[in-house]
Amino acid sequence: MLKIGSHVSFSDKGLLTATKEAISYGSSTFMIYTGAPQNTRRKPIEDLYIPQGKEAMAEGNIGEIVVHAPYIVNLGSYKEDTFRLAVEFLQEEIRRTHKIGVKNIVLHPGAYTEKDAEYGVARIAEGLNEVLEGTKETDVNIALETMAGKGTEVGRSFEELAQIIERVRMNERLTVCMDTCHIHDAGYDIVGDVDGVLRKFDEIVGLNRIAVVHVNDSKNPLGAAKDRHAPIGSGWIGYEGIAGVVGHDLLKGKPFILETPWIGKNERPMYEAEIAMLRGDTEERFGGEFMVDVERLHHFFDKVGIDSRLYVLNTWELLKSDAKARKADPREPMERLYDMLMENQVLPEEYSEEAINHRLLGYLAGEEWLSNQ
Ligand SMILES: [Zn+2]
Repeated sequence: MLKIGSHVSFSDKGLLTATKEAISYGSSTFMIYTGAPQNTRRKPIEDLYIPQGKEAMAEGNIGEIVVHAPYIVNLGSYKEDTFRLAVEFLQEEIRRTHKIGVKNIVLHPGAYTEKDAEYGVARIAEGLNEVLEGTKETDVNIALETMAGKGTEVGRSFEELAQIIERVRMNERLTVCMDTCHIHDAGYDIVGDVDGVLRKFDEIVGLNRIAVVHVNDSKNPLGAAKDRHAPIGSGWIGYEGIAGVVGHDLLKGKPFILETPWIGKNERPMYEAEIAMLRGDTEERFGGEFMVDVERLHHFFDKVGIDSRLYVLNTWELLKSDAKARKADPREPMERLYDMLMENQVLPEEYSEEAINHRLLGYLAGEEWLSNQ
């Protein structure tokens, strides 16, 4: 069965809270930060509801899960105190990950700031050597994430990841987290040639290193080096591009984790619909009327002359390139489509904002997706 889930909250009752949230989306895996991603304050391990969470996971048929390290740690820093904090905090995170019973902790490799990429690669490898050396008693792997290349991020090319891995002594404990938005933004064309991208990754890093796949659409075009996630189907990768990664034979069995943003005024994530659509059980999850509604959306938007793919791409392009137009109407594509549906009363009045946005994602998945249901 496809292992798919999302980032969920680890606050309140820790693993129990996280598992309940994941189950509410229909997930078969999930990812947590062990505390706030932007700081290093952490609860004691006894307060994380690990046995209760494990029990709930077993009941909900959730097996493998993933931890994400906070993104403030920077192993690429030349500043001694920043580097020391990164090494020591990562070691603590790895011990915590081990106690939660998780095999992979995802890490943004680091940023070289005022130095250069070569310095960054060497410094990160130095840090990883120390981190792994100091956590030998665990069997936790560090999953280096593929980065978009914004700012001075290291890991924006497969070559940079390979260079880091090569310099780490215990590199059997290094894996990779492949992020669809990041590699797309870094210039790897997973829409036009996913086979070629995976082949290239295999040659340079090795597909056996991939432990996790982050599944996100992108607000920016191929090679933009930006890293702004969009709900599945509402960005430049598009539903078919994402589905081509999630369903790819070479990635079979890996956990696929969504980190897509919430939509609408109620700030609800779209995970439940995204998971069902990518797994292919939308009708079981939402009922037969979901498809009828999506069909109705196709009719409506066809009638007003809107093509879902063109609309999404043109709107992102407009927001990016035309400051005046953006100022006049800053709404993102999904918000604009949502407002059109409301103005024209296309869907039943009693539908929640979330239900409408779920159906919009169904619409954005395209005619082909609909006809395959
Ligand atoms: Zn990440």
